[in-house]
Amino acid sequence: MVSTGDDPHEECGVVGVRAPGQDAARLAFFALYTLQHRGQEAAGIVTVDDGVAHVHKGQGLVSSVFNEENLSTLAGPLAIGHTRYSTTGGSGLRNAQPQVIETIDGPLGVAHNGNLVNAHVLRRELLERGVGLQTSSDTEVMVHLLTGAGGDWMTRIKVLMSRAEGAFALTILTKDAVYGVRDPWGFRPLVVGKIDDGYILASETCAFSAIGATFDREVEPGEIVRIDDDGLHIEQGAVPKQRAFCTFEQIYFSRPDSMHGGHLVHSTRQRLGRELAREAPVEADLVVPVPDSGTPHAVGFAQESGIPYTEGLIKNRYVGRTFIEPTQQLRDAGVAMKFNPLGDNLFGKRVVMVDDSIVRGSTSGPLVKMLRDAGAAEVHVRVACPAITDPCYMGVDMASREELIAAQNSVEEIRVHIGADSLAFLSIDALMRGLEADEGYCNACFTGDYPFESERFVQLQLKTKEQFAQVWGD
Ligand code: SF4
Repeated sequence: MVSTGDDPHEECGVVGVRAPGQDAARLAFFALYTLQHRGQEAAGIVTVDDGVAHVHKGQGLVSSVFNEENLSTLAGPLAIGHTRYSTTGGSGLRNAQPQVIETIDGPLGVAHNGNLVNAHVLRRELLERGVGLQTSSDTEVMVHLLTGAGGDWMTRIKVLMSRAEGAFALTILTKDAVYGVRDPWGFRPLVVGKIDDGYILASETCAFSAIGATFDREVEPGEIVRIDDDGLHIEQGAVPKQRAFCTFEQIYFSRPDSMHGGHLVHSTRQRLGRELAREAPVEADLVVPVPDSGTPHAVGFAQESGIPYTEGLIKNRYVGRTFIEPTQQLRDAGVAMKFNPLGDNLFGKRVVMVDDSIVRGSTSGPLVKMLRDAGAAEVHVRVACPAITDPCYMGVDMASREELIAAQNSVEEIRVHIGADSLAFLSIDALMRGLEADEGYCNACFTGDYPFESERFVQLQLKTKEQFAQVWGD
């Protein structure tokens, strides 16, 4: 299986379930199944039954990690789960989540979506205190911060929040409760759903419909949600900062049938496509999406421009991610394995190819060539987000600055590189109009304006983190 290597990648999906009288592990499984798009490298579920933890984790897709036999061993009304895409912290089973340990207060499980930018400082402190570390992941650091602090679990989580800097949406399992925790910026999503007498926490609302749950509320930035025998409790765990929800959740990561801020993601993407058509119109005969992520944007572009929408590229939806091929030549071959053109639709037509984003530029060129080879008379590329000029340190595997094509090249240079007749990116202003927001979003990968102290500080942190990863052979 081959990846094109030009998509940004999310770093995980998390769930948490408290479902009295129900099979919490099975609910967690189906919730994770719908969050598969957030990570395909490993999956895990841990449950607690009468104070005893049961855990199963494995590498691969949720559907291949779990079966009736191992699910039946995960007894209990409380569960958390995780599906993993790794960047820092390697992809091996050792780093698979949830991480679970035994403590004096019973079992503790933690599942994390995000990336700590001060993990190396915290790791150093733990090592100096004589705490042994088994993995290179941030999650283990958080587990030790929780166990090292005093007081009840709510107090310990507040201590964790005061020390951890960066992006974290967590589900935490103890012997008698499930917790949801969101960092003070709210980089990564975390939502609460209601199911019969219980509750579910999930990265996205699409997980709710899979198990018959209904949306209850978002976990707001800096909040801790505790779900126990007495229901749902909410506490402010840390003072919220300037909200910085990841714009890429709206543009690309989240499933189109999820809701963010009360808006269906699919509708938001159509609005971005309409903004794009207004901002960068073009004379053409057809609007063609790069499926599947470019589809709603292309629908919006077609609606606004009046240019007919049609499919021009068919995607092999069963092509997954692999780390095997690093070369450009093989990446190009990966595109050919992932997409095929619909020649009859394209022949002699002036085509607008709408994509959600361009990261390295390694996919767009081969796709433009594919459309031309299939007979398209002209290929105009329209991108439903601004040019990506800066890397992400908040849990998204984007690319280094050197690899980002828009960090190194002008729009005209990129147009020439990908062989398009014209090329346009959505502006930041149009992006925010499409999101129907003036603020509240992180746009650092488009602007270089990071919500942390300084980018140099973050880079220093991550460099040390990479060194830790090398020590572990990840
Ligand atoms: S830098 Fe970009 S990808 Fe990273 S959190 Fe901000 S908007 Fe999302």
